Amino acid sequence: MPGFEIFGAEEKAQVMEVLESGVLFRYEFAAQRKGVWKVLEFERAFAAYTGAAHAQAVTSGTAALKVALAALGVGEGDEVITQGFTFVATWEAILDCGAVPVFAEVDLTLNMDPADLGKKITPRTKAIIPVHMMGAQARIEAIKAIADRHGIPVIEDTAQAAGGRLHGRHLGTFGAVGTFSFDAVKTMTTGEGGMCITSDETLWRRMSEYQDHGHDHLPNPGGRGGESRSFVGFNFRMMEIQGAIGLAQLAKLDGIVAAQQKNKAFFREAVSVLPGVQFREILDEAGDSATFLTFFLPDAARTTAVNRVLREAGAGAVRWSENGWHYYPNWEHLLEGKTYCHGGWPFSVGGKRRVVYDPQALPASAAIMERALTYQVPILLPDEQKTKIAAALKKAAAV
Ligand SMILES: *Cc1c(COP(=O)(O)O)cnc(C)c1O
Repeated sequence: MPGFEIFGAEEKAQVMEVLESGVLFRYEFAAQRKGVWKVLEFERAFAAYTGAAHAQAVTSGTAALKVALAALGVGEGDEVITQGFTFVATWEAILDCGAVPVFAEVDLTLNMDPADLGKKITPRTKAIIPVHMMGAQARIEAIKAIADRHGIPVIEDTAQAAGGRLHGRHLGTFGAVGTFSFDAVKTMTTGEGGMCITSDETLWRRMSEYQDHGHDHLPNPGGRGGESRSFVGFNFRMMEIQGAIGLAQLAKLDGIVAAQQKNKAFFREAVSVLPGVQFREILDEAGDSATFLTFFLPDAARTTAVNRVLREAGAGAVRWSENGWHYYPNWEHLLEGKTYCHGGWPFSVGGKRRVVYDPQALPASAAIMERALTYQVPILLPDEQKTKIAAALKKAAAV
């Protein structure tokens, strides 16, 4: 998964160009910067790579979600539907806009179940955020069709699926906006960073303005200080060093995905020895960014027993149902409405709860998640590691 595995001369050379220009800020300083505009160049390259008309760089994947929601005008009184298996950032961004996150079930894709999405749409639903978790496609075509019927925009949280495609089309280009993260453990990384892509010019302009305090970025005699604004914004600006690293990493992305696909095939074969094993449903294997391999065992007890043996043999798998950061019943701060804000905002208004979350609210997801085990697929996979993993799985197959 992480692009840091293959940091090298390319990233270094890119960063040096920025340091030699002496300009770290993405805007202005035209006279000093010697033609170096790394963030702008990264945005253009990322848009061209994905096939989107526009890209807006920001400081993180969380910021990308916030900027997309802000551009769509999501706010207090609105509901935004996402899924109960995602990173906390997805619903933090929704809460931060003043809206209420609503959680849909996942199915065997481990992404949003379109049938459950349909049940959760209300007149208050202002956006839908399916997540392409662990590098593979959500049922984005079905989700988009449902959303279109209701006239609700879709934001694709593509934080974990850079380089992923569905039927030849890049993930992140199906919805109104696709958001990406380049944090330290993502497929391509700039340390911290994020991107919003869209083919809607109006939305792009709003995102561009919002992430820069509302600056309209139109030419005027006063330069940046003379720019105008039409609404309040915030600061989520990416800096030049991140843009530079992003350019180097983006150039490696297809190679990263190809290496992961090869290594994922090894994991799949090794895991196949487990009796009764079933694999996560992948809608389009060719477009899978292959950052993870997930499999299901017949029941929770068997899953526990197998992973115990795997752990003892030094090849334990990730069990997301035990993970505190990615799975709904384990988000105690959300479930208990923990906040420092007086009056209990954003969970309460004036001391009165506006939303209460039931930890048992997603039974279909629970039935799937408790049987799921995951291996993260690295870019580099030495033979000794393969031998160890294969041996551990053989041992686990015998319990
Ligand atoms: C990593 C991640 C984010 C947030 O990205 P940051 O760059 O870490 O802020 C959002 N959604 C998902 C699904 C993620 O995995």
